[in-house]
Amino acid sequence: MTTHAFWVAGREATGDETFDVTNPYDGRTVGTVSVPTEAQVEEAVAAAHAVRDEFAATPAHVRAAALDHVARRLTERTEEIAQLISAENGKPVKWARGEVGRAISVFRLAAEEARRWNAGEAQRLDTDQGGTGRLALTRRVPRGAVLGIAPFNFPLNLSAHKVAPAIAVGAPIILKPAPATPISSLVLGEILAETDLPAGSWSVLTVPNDRMPALVRDERLPVISFTGSGPVGWSIRDSVPRKHCTLELGGNAAAVVLPDWASEQDLEWAATRIATFSNYQGGQSCISVQRVVADAAVYDRLVPMIVEKVRAQVTGDPADDATDVGPLVDENAAKRVEAWVDEAVKAGAELLTGGTRDGATYAPTVLAGVPEGVTLSCEEVFGPVLTVQRTEGEEAAFAAVNDSPYGLQAGVFTHDLQTAFRAHRALEVGGVIIGDVPSYRADQMPYGGAKQSGVGREGVRYAMEDYTYERVMVLTGL
Ligand code: NAD
Repeated sequence: MTTHAFWVAGREATGDETFDVTNPYDGRTVGTVSVPTEAQVEEAVAAAHAVRDEFAATPAHVRAAALDHVARRLTERTEEIAQLISAENGKPVKWARGEVGRAISVFRLAAEEARRWNAGEAQRLDTDQGGTGRLALTRRVPRGAVLGIAPFNFPLNLSAHKVAPAIAVGAPIILKPAPATPISSLVLGEILAETDLPAGSWSVLTVPNDRMPALVRDERLPVISFTGSGPVGWSIRDSVPRKHCTLELGGNAAAVVLPDWASEQDLEWAATRIATFSNYQGGQSCISVQRVVADAAVYDRLVPMIVEKVRAQVTGDPADDATDVGPLVDENAAKRVEAWVDEAVKAGAELLTGGTRDGATYAPTVLAGVPEGVTLSCEEVFGPVLTVQRTEGEEAAFAAVNDSPYGLQAGVFTHDLQTAFRAHRALEVGGVIIGDVPSYRADQMPYGGAKQSGVGREGVRYAMEDYTYERVMVLTGL
């Protein structure tokens, strides 16, 4: 069994302790991972801090070439890395291949952005007398080294969303992958080590959770980019209120189906997309469809179609190409989902399909009439569970979407342009997807939440803006 090293200031290293990463489907050990000592963490942080000016001054072509290299190597190693992601996370290998494809596009986009980044702008100041003979020039400057903390559900692509924009702007980054799924990020380290980036500009550290508060508080890491659960994210922000924190947190995303989305073909598309994206990765995506808000005009035709398609989802071994739904990240996660569904059914919800558990695998499930106040109706389920709700009229549908503490993305199935604009204005979310499920994301899009779903934006250029601040120079006497 390989022991995977971590990366300190661009160099491979091992510590005194290790932990095992297991495949949630069959409990097999996927790999053993080394844990950095406190001295090794200190070395990485000190190096990131020390190299910050040098890295910010690196020519764009050097940073872009490194990013292109990573994209190329991920492309060459796609199948191997997809198998690895599938084994450590439990997601079906077909989805894992898609994830590697997304990470490749993140590095490509970052290379393109690095080439055109920071041209700045000139502003005339002679719009009043005091500005006569003056000119302002802007440039964006990295805030300093970034601490990127990644979740388990897209272990490669969400690490890519931390690392690639940092390299693109010349900000040193320390990446901390999730303990359940660190190996794909350590492989990303192998690829980064093949580039000419300055030593110290990147590290990948498998720091245990109980040692994270000290790293979070370290003043040499002024930027924190966190993707994960709400309680952890908000507690990080509360512990360092003066740092620049981006929080990409959870949600209970809704898909709205309005009366004009009513042809056989329309409903077929909506039902297919909803059934697929309430279950992909076992529902462990922050923009997985958790709620369907269907207008009474289409509800009775749509819901049976969704149920039939959810029943057709194939559960099983994530390594099998035919599998649609693998296990959740561990058995406890599946037991939690089971408890929430049981609670809803006891409170009067109608179970339309699913509701069973086999080890860490929870069956794709659909519920109707979930009463207000039960956990499932207000919290993020993060499992293959969909609730359906009947509403009347556009306003009631939009109010149902907004009746949530979260606001990541929403999908609205309508053909009507006016309705689309009203949805864009009314829905309290970071993204409104018209004609599709809320689960659509392209890596260049601004991506992030409203309300309890977070603060700040990812999406390559938006993260680059987040990692930097505007510095203006005023020229006088022109
Ligand atoms: P988590 O909050 O348990 O862990 C996220 C990361 O934080 C891990 O690397 C973990 O080791 C680390 N961590 C844990 N305790 C910490 C502490 N005290 N200080 C610093 N770091 C700490 O989340 P998870 O279970 O890995 O991921 C699932 C969650 O992530 C879901 O809520 C999901 O919706 C959310 N998510 C959000 C987005 C988004 O972009 N909005 C994307 C994917 C996942």
